[in-house]
Amino acid sequence: MAKKTIKDVDLKDKKVLVRVDFNVPLKEGVITNDNRIVAALPTINYVIENGGKAILFSHLGRVKTEEDKAGKSLKPVAERLSELLGKPVTFVPETRGAALETAVNNMKDGDVLVFENTRFEDVDGKKESGNDAELGKYWASLGDVFVNDAFGTAHRAHASNVGIASTGIPTVAGFLMDKEIQFIGEAVESPKRPFVAILGGAKVSDKIGVIENLISKADKILIGGGMTYTFYKAQGHEIGNSLVEEDKVALAKELIEKAGDKLILPIDSVCSKEFSNDAETLITDGAAVPEGYMGLDIGPKSIELFTNELAGAKTVVWNGPMGVFEMSNFAKGTIGVCEAIANLNDATTIIGGGDSAAAAIQLGFADKFTHISTGGGASLELLEGKTLPGLAAINDK
Ligand code: ADP
Ligand code: MG
Repeated sequence: MAKKTIKDVDLKDKKVLVRVDFNVPLKEGVITNDNRIVAALPTINYVIENGGKAILFSHLGRVKTEEDKAGKSLKPVAERLSELLGKPVTFVPETRGAALETAVNNMKDGDVLVFENTRFEDVDGKKESGNDAELGKYWASLGDVFVNDAFGTAHRAHASNVGIASTGIPTVAGFLMDKEIQFIGEAVESPKRPFVAILGGAKVSDKIGVIENLISKADKILIGGGMTYTFYKAQGHEIGNSLVEEDKVALAKELIEKAGDKLILPIDSVCSKEFSNDAETLITDGAAVPEGYMGLDIGPKSIELFTNELAGAKTVVWNGPMGVFEMSNFAKGTIGVCEAIANLNDATTIIGGGDSAAAAIQLGFADKFTHISTGGGASLELLEGKTLPGLAAINDK
């Protein structure tokens, strides 16, 4: 998956189109978390420092109707970016037209411009999300080279990524995108072994593709979270009121058979009668969950088992929390796995997945991982071994 990066193109005097991920949380026009803007700075600074003109654009939220546009402008983002860069940033409140073209043509080397939310083009017939060819062509016409740095949308074919690239304009990965390709792509394609995958979260159905792809690639697959109980049911255990996907029990059985010793299930659970942090908890002795109870976290013996299974791992990919980590009574499994991973020597450790990344950050382990993916859906599809249209559209090395 060797893709060209921003380092492979000449940027001097060039109009550089940069698809960034500025999809930041906003509350009444105020940015509540600017992580994504900060994360885009290396690519933006690289363009500026190398004498390019940085033309930046992104989606922000979902926009379907004219009313949806309220509070979804990229203007506050452009202002915050200007503060972070310590230099003026031109904001154009349009996604096309004469004002945008004039502003672009007036740019000097090292200038930065942000134009309006690409999804504003969805109001009149889903042009951005539907990858309207004419729109992609128009945006491509504004620049000389295209840098795609928005990994979070790489699993979607939109006008602002695939549409622009498919006009044939030189298309390269920005630093953020490149990091995701390096870490997740290489972990799955050519991992240093032993390679241990940890899969949890709510549902088997969300993770089937990942489990199937990793069965042939990982040395071990540790299962936790809500999906445990569908596997338990497949093995004939009592599961009480635990989360279960009845229509996936047969599939779970198949996966258990296919994976053999590779697939490792928890050996105990932290249970409760209610989905609440106030209800009493009970730790099972073995897999079976008693009647009236639901399994909400892996138990202490499972943490020990998983810690032992992780020992010596050189590559770890983790997707999906081990329990309902949002409640402190059921966060110990996820914390335990975070600790086990943090204690590994000389291992590449990767988290892909929105809630797993949030869990690791919330529980204070953010700096203990080699890489925390910025794209939930996109990283999941990469782990499934799927071809991401946004990645495929980047020029090969
Ligand atoms: P990710 O976003 O990392 O891919 P998921 O979205 O698949 O993860 O799953 C995350 C959710 O799974 C969390 O909100 C967590 O509370 C829930 N979860 C974990 N374990 C259980 C369980 N035993 N029962 C019910 N929900 C669970
Ligand atoms: Mg999730």
